[in-house]
Amino acid sequence: MKIFDTHAHLCDSSFDEDLEEVLNRAVGAGVCKIVAVSEDLSDARRNLQLSEIYSMIRPAAGLYPDNPDQTQAQEMVAWIRKNRARLWAIGEVGLDFWIAKAPEDRELQANIFSMFVDLSLELDLPLNVHSRSTGRHVIDILLARGARRVQLHAFDGKFGTALAAVEAGFFFSIPPSVARSRQKQKLVRNLPLSCMMVESDSPVLGPEAGERNEPANSRIAIETIAYLKGETVQIVAEEVYNNSCRLYGKDIG
Ligand SMILES: [Zn+2]
Repeated sequence: MKIFDTHAHLCDSSFDEDLEEVLNRAVGAGVCKIVAVSEDLSDARRNLQLSEIYSMIRPAAGLYPDNPDQTQAQEMVAWIRKNRARLWAIGEVGLDFWIAKAPEDRELQANIFSMFVDLSLELDLPLNVHSRSTGRHVIDILLARGARRVQLHAFDGKFGTALAAVEAGFFFSIPPSVARSRQKQKLVRNLPLSCMMVESDSPVLGPEAGERNEPANSRIAIETIAYLKGETVQIVAEEVYNNSCRLYGKDIG
């Protein structure tokens, strides 16, 4: 079985001591590619370095929405342009109204997210999108700006909200927490397999709340999707892997 973990935070300090062992366990579970997302510029630089050491790592660069700062966003845009050839995605970017409560902070988040959506079109890079408590707003912005290559990660909205994104050809990456989240189980039951991918979102969203999560657990997401859809693990694994290749490009090695 080949597994593509499409969203992980490998720069997180909880992996400082044992990243190599974590990646070895991932390989043991069948993971052959990991999109390593960034929350800021220092993560982005580190992910590029990691991708030189570990060939399974596909680096992505973005600004997490808890960082709504125009200057940092412009620096990130310039850095992504400069390093375009070595990057696999723009992420993690998006909106988070659970973090931003004040209207002016929400507007700033939306402006910055819009910049990254436009950059994705300019550079033809996929967007790896965060949308906590903001599913509808995020999808509205993506559709209004004509986004084409989109991954909605750990989507926490309803299927009714997700439908416009499904119709637009966007993908949904399902984390291992689907094993314990009723909202995610409901979403998986309703979404077509043709728009699903898997992720770990390491070190969070693991199968056990509060325990460090790691890329090997992407397999649990596949097994849970198979159970919920009444399909074999093999069929789901192949389909979500192929979907990931459709989003990230054919020559992903
Ligand atoms: Zn994340």
